[in-house]
Amino acid sequence: MSKKSLKDGDIVITGEKLGVVEEFLPDKQSTFTKDGKIFAIKTGMININNKERKIEISTHQEKDRKVVKIGDIVIGSILFLRQYSVGINFCTINKKIHFNSSYFGNIHVSQISDRYVERISDAFQITDIVRARVVEQNYTEYKLSTTGKDLGVIYADCVICGDPLKKIGYNKLKCDRCGNVESRKLTSDYGNVTNNLRF
Ligand SMILES: [Zn+2]
Repeated sequence: MSKKSLKDGDIVITGEKLGVVEEFLPDKQSTFTKDGKIFAIKTGMININNKERKIEISTHQEKDRKVVKIGDIVIGSILFLRQYSVGINFCTINKKIHFNSSYFGNIHVSQISDRYVERISDAFQITDIVRARVVEQNYTEYKLSTTGKDLGVIYADCVICGDPLKKIGYNKLKCDRCGNVESRKLTSDYGNVTNNLRF
């Protein structure tokens, strides 16, 4: 009767009993089931998905992975503009900063917005900080997308004087210092992104 009940985040060792199949839907990669009981295949942290009742064991290393996967949200800065795409250097994956890793991605003009983008320079400028989704991998290059209201430019400096630009309308920015008005593909939280939230 003294059996402890395991919870999300608990550390378990290989072979440890996690529960029964009536309680959880066991993950096939990290657990095995025998006579209706679920056991850990490896040592790690319990991960319980309460909605689906799924249970799995994952390690810190896996959670902190540096491998970029399709669907990941990344943040980076615009390196250069081409006629039909922009080059972006990114170093964060799903809100974790990876200073020692640098990845290169491209955003094609068709992947910038749900709306038609005539000129790349209406959406991005060099040094803009951009939040994007990974949509395709081609060896060491990633294709990114900024369609959707949460993706796009989260921070931009004035191209003339370098002061931070303020949002004055849908996809419109203005510099208070020199009065310059510029266009970008903005996120809905442009300007509200704190230093912490940028990553
Ligand atoms: Zn300015």
